[in-house]
Amino acid sequence: MRRCPYCKVDVAGDLVKCPLCQSKLTGAGEEPCYPKFEAQKKRSLYYKMQLAIVWGLLIIGVGLDFLVGLRLPGFPDLHWCLLLAMWLIGFEFGIMRQFKPGTGSAGKVTMLVLITIAMWCVTAYFFGFMDITIDLVIPAALAATIIANFVLALLDKNGNTMSYLLSGLFMGVVPSVICFFVRSKMPLAWAICLMVSVILFAGAVIFRGRAVAAELQRRFHL
Ligand SMILES: [Zn+2]
Repeated sequence: MRRCPYCKVDVAGDLVKCPLCQSKLTGAGEEPCYPKFEAQKKRSLYYKMQLAIVWGLLIIGVGLDFLVGLRLPGFPDLHWCLLLAMWLIGFEFGIMRQFKPGTGSAGKVTMLVLITIAMWCVTAYFFGFMDITIDLVIPAALAATIIANFVLALLDKNGNTMSYLLSGLFMGVVPSVICFFVRSKMPLAWAICLMVSVILFAGAVIFRGRAVAAELQRRFHL
């Protein structure tokens, strides 16, 4: 058993540093208590490779844009490397989220879609295709995510269908209602998105009703 001289606690296993204060532990270690994360170690090489590529692209972009002065045809004043940087940072953030433990797949998918839509909007604003984005691209992306969430909810075997269904319903209803009140009209694609989410939610309750009810009872201690 090792001991932290500062926290005055005994630490089982083969840890070298105190889990509370990160100081070096004293005493002899024992058999490891926790399993090693082999999967994470294997991933780390790919992770480093993509990180190196992303950094390389970022530096090349900044160099071409600011140092060489290379601009996109038709957009002489647009610092395109800033948009490139935004997409690369968003991509990195998405990868980090995928490896982060403790977040369900539904939460990861939803977060990734919302971030992608936000970055798409910024890009559309600077390149001037905002109208088609709001009327078509965003509702199409949301509808695709809702369908993906529905399929994941049907495939789920762990009793975690609620998070898929609720995030699907949330993505279908909240943005289209906001859109309706802000613009006081409902473009066709938004109406389809809203209907898809409500239909799939109802369908999931019909097909997986027992699992959904059991999960409700489990989560809310009914
Ligand atoms: Zn300590």
